[in-house]
Amino acid sequence: RKPVQSYLTEAAENYPEKAAVHFMGKEITFKEVYECALRMGNYLRDIGIKKGDRVAIMLPNCPQSVISYYGVLYAGGIVVQTNPLYTERELEYQMKDSAAEVIIGLDLLYPRISKIMKNTQLKHIIVTAIKDYLPFPKNIVYPFIQKRQSGIVVNVKHEGNQHLFKKIMSAGKVAPLENEFDFEKDLALLQYTGGTTGYPKGVMLTHKNLISNATACDAWLYKARKGEEKILGVLPFFHVYGMTTVLILAVMQGYKMILLPKFDVETTLKTIHKLRPTIFPGAPTIYIGLLNSPNIDKYDLTSIKSCLSGSAPLPYEIQQKFEKITGGKLVEGYGLTESSPVTHANFLWEENRVKGSIGVPWPDTESIILSAETGEAALPGEIGEIAVKGPQIMQGYWNRAEDTAATFKDGWLLTGDMGYMDKDGFFYIVDRKKDIIIAGGYNIYPREIEDVLYEHPAIQEMVVAGVPDPYRGETVKAYIVLKEGMTATEQELDEYARKYLAAYKVPRVYEFRTELPKTAVGKILRRALVDEERSKRK
Ligand code: ATP
Repeated sequence: RKPVQSYLTEAAENYPEKAAVHFMGKEITFKEVYECALRMGNYLRDIGIKKGDRVAIMLPNCPQSVISYYGVLYAGGIVVQTNPLYTERELEYQMKDSAAEVIIGLDLLYPRISKIMKNTQLKHIIVTAIKDYLPFPKNIVYPFIQKRQSGIVVNVKHEGNQHLFKKIMSAGKVAPLENEFDFEKDLALLQYTGGTTGYPKGVMLTHKNLISNATACDAWLYKARKGEEKILGVLPFFHVYGMTTVLILAVMQGYKMILLPKFDVETTLKTIHKLRPTIFPGAPTIYIGLLNSPNIDKYDLTSIKSCLSGSAPLPYEIQQKFEKITGGKLVEGYGLTESSPVTHANFLWEENRVKGSIGVPWPDTESIILSAETGEAALPGEIGEIAVKGPQIMQGYWNRAEDTAATFKDGWLLTGDMGYMDKDGFFYIVDRKKDIIIAGGYNIYPREIEDVLYEHPAIQEMVVAGVPDPYRGETVKAYIVLKEGMTATEQELDEYARKYLAAYKVPRVYEFRTELPKTAVGKILRRALVDEERSKRK
């Protein structure tokens, strides 16, 4: 029943000289992270941040993102995580909605932030250059930011308070900070939903929500050794999945976090080979990316012991292959931002895992399937909406009472995912309620079609979406990325799909691409493709 930041205070006492963070060849101890976070916390207090005020963080994974996160909490503030790739429009929306007063961001983002500042409640920008903190070549992190913003960032001249973060770190006070505190009610985080299915909403997560989810994660990792493990932080901390299963868990258990500012196949493989992490939470696209590397055999990946895959379905053959190569365990879990995020997972030990299932509810979590017909708990095997209850479930959406009311039914969080439970209590996702395609009166689940096409040897990645059709209302379109050096024509794929799927489910349109749009955790953005299609037809 302690606040999230108190675990950093404890880690600094228990493991003062142990490395908390490894970043680009440099290690920072728990004591250093703690002192830096207090410096940030004291500075925020001095510029007027009080309990419950919002402070935004717009950083990739790096020492500063860890320090800022805990600094905001020490000051009593609520963290608002912001994706560094957000455009001005997205950033302005989030800053207005959350009414954040301070933003801590990468120096390269300064032009973008300062442009939107006047339309928001932002009063202060604290910028940090990655190199301010650690001396290493610029180009390691810069391409990550420049990718989508090249027009804006090319001539950044470190305007204004360019060295503020550095100054705070060198001259700030290390005085301990206390706050009045309510474990159940106090918010630690406003986490905006990914926006896969609509406009992002601020999910209100309390200290209890985050701590209980990280505690359950620890229980799930039943063989992890306190103070001993090394956890690979590829998942971004600006998404709740990485924040809970890497950042909070690591600080709670005294694990070393090996941080990468962005997922890149070769860097990740090299990092595993060299630094030998033992725990590696990820998403299917991450594991698929690694397995598809032509160089994978050059690396020793056998340090990996436990991996949790969430955010999208994990293909069975990927799990099998990854386990074979690493000798560790890779299991599928499930969750959403609204539940901090994990609610279900398979067990790490093999005999209790079920192929194609998202597993069973996590510790202290209850889950049922709500029948569309009766609105009550469905019987095993019946498809309905997955609903969950537990200590990790959000308080609601920030400033959106109506959306909150529509997301809960009798205390159950409605996940928006359709699924079923088998007679042994294992859960399965059928698809998202909103992604169901209705073509010529038939309900079609994209996931079923994707499962079939993913088995095609030439397909690296794909997604199916319902696109407008004058005759059938909607029709099935498949977006395909082929494996390097492989070919497959539309006709071949059509013949293949027809072997395994009823005619009404077979994609009517194929589009070949070199990549697919993805969210921060690598989930394919089906909604972006549907929107693209709609705007083409306007
Ligand atoms: P938004 O909620 O704004 O539409 P988002 O879907 O990206 O955006 P998240 O909270 O990041 O928001 O994602 C949660 C969703 O991810 C779940 O509701 C579910 O549809 C999907 N998901 C998570 N894990 C799995 C899994 N193992 N298999 C299939 N789908 C999964």
